Amino acid sequence: MFYRQKHLLAIEGLTPPEIGHLLELADSYVLLNRSGKTQRDLLRGRTLINLFFEDSTRTRTSFELAGKRLGADVINMSVSTSSVNKGETLLDTAATLNAMQCDLLVVRHDQSGAPNLLARKVDASVINAGDGTHEHPTQALLDALTIKRRKGRIEGLTVAICGDVLHSRVARSNIHLLTTLGNRVRVVGPPTLLPAGIADLGVSVFHDMKSGLEGADIVMMLRLQKERMTRGLVPSAREYFRFWGLDAAKLAYANDDALIMHPGPMNRGVEIDSAVADHPTRSLIKEQVEMGVAVRMAVLDTLSRGDGRNDV
Ligand code: ASP
Repeated sequence: MFYRQKHLLAIEGLTPPEIGHLLELADSYVLLNRSGKTQRDLLRGRTLINLFFEDSTRTRTSFELAGKRLGADVINMSVSTSSVNKGETLLDTAATLNAMQCDLLVVRHDQSGAPNLLARKVDASVINAGDGTHEHPTQALLDALTIKRRKGRIEGLTVAICGDVLHSRVARSNIHLLTTLGNRVRVVGPPTLLPAGIADLGVSVFHDMKSGLEGADIVMMLRLQKERMTRGLVPSAREYFRFWGLDAAKLAYANDDALIMHPGPMNRGVEIDSAVADHPTRSLIKEQVEMGVAVRMAVLDTLSRGDGRNDV
């Protein structure tokens, strides 16, 4: 057992064996899911609470499915139906959840660091399902599994992460994971959407798609996160697409067998053109969703065993 932590709060700080363990286990869950078999004894009698303070489609449903496939009792709490709207603080919510003796707590919050705070206050294992602009660890794991299964490896590749890196927790988690495993990571976007000091994370920085995509094995597009923008950082959607949107012409700068990824939800015609998003052989976007369920099963499985782990 290589993963010895109680929680999964970030990719930053995980070791290659820890990441490798989660990916290998997830790979076995892909096969199990495809065979139609289930593993309903593993989490029988355990309670998983999905606590989502921000919208989600793929992440929430895939955690729910993953928990149910492993036999857990799954409860979905969304902010609109909970007391949070009545002014209950995050810590009061934590105390309430603790009293319910939940075993696994999946949290999404618009504030970076909220899952870390909860992890210090509840007895459950906490899984970060996306916190502000900080991290989205299960997304990076599912992206890595998708790449590994298609390319046969997850090291020595050139990965271009393009677009709104500034607001993207997906970018941050992917940068940590991909550099930890020995890939070359590039970030590509307008200066207004690349955070200052991003090169310190071990990535190369490009300000145009042509040079950023040249020689890339993977082109990972990011959603333009309008909801996190407090000022006008980009021109019109049309202008943005012209310079930064992935279409067949820009994809041609990358390697001939380069694969296309996007974490969803996609703004078609803004950061990605439908012709490449739906490309029958080069788009991995649907496969990313399938891998999401397997990765979340592996994470729930690993954290629920908790043998010999170090509490954080
Ligand atoms: N679904 C991803 C996230 O929650 C990506 C996005 O929203 O653009 O971060």
